[in-house]
Amino acid sequence: MTILNDEIQMTTITTDCLCQVEDENGEWVDSNSCYGDCGEWQEEDAYWLQDQWRKANGIEEDDPILIQVDRIGWTNASAYKWTTAKEVYKSLYLNGDFRIEFTLTGNTLTAIRYSHDEPVGTGTFTFTHYKGCEKCGEPVEASIHAEELGMCVECSNKYFDHDHPEHECLSC
Ligand SMILES: [Zn+2]
Ligand SMILES: [Zn+2]
Repeated sequence: MTILNDEIQMTTITTDCLCQVEDENGEWVDSNSCYGDCGEWQEEDAYWLQDQWRKANGIEEDDPILIQVDRIGWTNASAYKWTTAKEVYKSLYLNGDFRIEFTLTGNTLTAIRYSHDEPVGTGTFTFTHYKGCEKCGEPVEASIHAEELGMCVECSNKYFDHDHPEHECLSC
């Protein structure tokens, strides 16, 4: 975990072993065998950052998150993927070696991944908060969900339609 200042916090998850051992002089040096816990503490750090991001944005653990990136893999294609808020920290794992750098700037989380097919890194991954529409269950971007009183635009339009029995129009 690197805390650059109040505004920017970074954490990295890598498949490279980071285990260290104390040598005969009492210095910490890279271990030549993995004790298996270096991966665990990296995940703990990333999970902590994810929690900071959730708290800063009022995101529940099971809320849908849309991940988008403009450049990924050896084809440099754009891509998107759905996950839940509690699984964001492991949502960009690959089979094989990789390094993922998460950055929390204010309340905005981004990530960049490096791997065999992404030697100079991917584009920047973004994570957009969605909520389920209370009427139809479809994921709605959280800002729209708040504006439409918990509904998607379609359900909100239906609800506030003049003919809708649940609602009396105030303007007619
Ligand atoms: Zn290790
Ligand atoms: Zn809806």
